[in-house]
Amino acid sequence: MPGPPVDTDAILMRVAVDLDLCQGHGVCESEAPTVFELAKNAKVTILEERPDDGQRAEVEAAVRYCPTSALRITEEE
Ligand code: SF4
Repeated sequence: MPGPPVDTDAILMRVAVDLDLCQGHGVCESEAPTVFELAKNAKVTILEERPDDGQRAEVEAAVRYCPTSALRITEEE
């Protein structure tokens, strides 16, 4: 039996980057290529500032593995 529907719109994830900290390692792009993009010799660009819940695991991995801790996730109601 499937459980009750989960309201995935209730809490939105918002991704932010501190560009002063970003050194362009590109770990985030490897972990979540639909959310982060890195041009050569550049700093990261956030393609999707509000990823849906299906991308949460990838985004969390990107935040965790960013070598300079430049990324963070905030939640919004
Ligand atoms: S992993 Fe961190 S330092 Fe590397 S490009 Fe992404 S935000 Fe910048």
